[in-house]
Amino acid sequence: MALPSKKIVKEIKVDIEKCTGCRACEMACSAFHATPRYSTINPAKSRIRIVADEIRDEYVPLRAADYTPSECTGRHVYLINGKEYSECSFCGASCPSRDYFVEPDSGLPLKCDMCESVPPLAEPMCVQVCGTDALTYVEREEDREQKVQPKRGQIEVGLEYLVQQYGIDAVAESLNELARVKKA
Ligand code: SF4
Ligand code: SF4
Repeated sequence: MALPSKKIVKEIKVDIEKCTGCRACEMACSAFHATPRYSTINPAKSRIRIVADEIRDEYVPLRAADYTPSECTGRHVYLINGKEYSECSFCGASCPSRDYFVEPDSGLPLKCDMCESVPPLAEPMCVQVCGTDALTYVEREEDREQKVQPKRGQIEVGLEYLVQQYGIDAVAESLNELARVKKA
């Protein structure tokens, strides 16, 4: 039976205008990831950090995303509803220029795991403790990945190249081995 073309994914929605900078999310995240669970609170170990400029009344919740090896070259200031947000505030990646998401004891990078646990939480911890709804857990529809069927011409060109490089016997042997593994 064919799977529906859309799937439902859940994600954390951030409403910057509602963030008061209380940092309850940082505390809850660090407590949830402590060993044993909830044994300590240390915002330095949180996978969500509040980028704060208290003088300008700016608070931007930022979660640790995948590590990116390249440094940003753009330095911008964003203006939203008359409020200025400084550079970096909207980059979800744990940029190497910053040390927000580094485990203080080991130096290892931290990454948001959406509070993965067994059984799963109804909502991630940071969402649960956010009293202003700056963080909400929402559903959205996403296209399911469609398998692209290569055109016959592409396959032939690819095989021809491999035969030229490695010889027909080696290519045939590799294909047989691949077929054997796939069928096992
Ligand atoms: S708990 Fe909510 S309001 Fe408080 S700092 Fe975190 S995102 Fe902002
Ligand atoms: S979803 Fe969980 S792991 Fe990710 S930032 Fe929120 S509390 Fe931390």
